[in-house]
Amino acid sequence: PDLEMVNLNQVIKSAVRILERTIPKMVRIKLDLSENLPQTQGDATQLEQVIINLGSNANDAMPEGGCLTIKTRAVRSTDQEEETSQTKGSDLLRITVQDNGCGMDKTTREQIFNPFFTTKSVGKGTGLGLSVVYGIIQNHNGNISCQSIPGKGTTFNIDLPAVELGK
Ligand code: ADP
Ligand code: MG
Repeated sequence: PDLEMVNLNQVIKSAVRILERTIPKMVRIKLDLSENLPQTQGDATQLEQVIINLGSNANDAMPEGGCLTIKTRAVRSTDQEEETSQTKGSDLLRITVQDNGCGMDKTTREQIFNPFFTTKSVGKGTGLGLSVVYGIIQNHNGNISCQSIPGKGTTFNIDLPAVELGK
């Protein structure tokens, strides 16, 4: 990717403006963005695509409406308990994308990052959205994980290395 300093809050706001053009009003988009979020290094256009792909799936998961929450936090990797991350040792930026839609069972969740895996009907899904997301996060030395409860909703956590100012 083209390397630049990226303000993830700005990337998220820009992605949400794009999502709002297609997402119906009955899906509420709630932003919970950390005010003093460190920057990360990467490709803003690709990271915007990550948020668009996750948001678009969340929308598909809530045909009767619901809430899509996008949250950012600075995280100290040493404070992480059960999560594994390839970026251990450096401070992290965490993006959480959560919906209260249909959720997925374990068998589905295990396949979502595979190219062409889709549960959507022909013409509705290509099965490429999450494999693209996975590749972009890998290229940014990040980590992505997914938790989902059928009938309750889905949460994606993305950790990216933070660039500390003065370094
Ligand atoms: P597509 O959206 O074209 O099907 P994706 O790679 O974006 O392809 O997603 C793959 C599959 O993962 C979807 O078909 C769906 O079964 C599941 N999925 C992804 N995001 C969610 C979500 N937020 N809620 C429920 N299922 C999801
Ligand atoms: Mg998709």
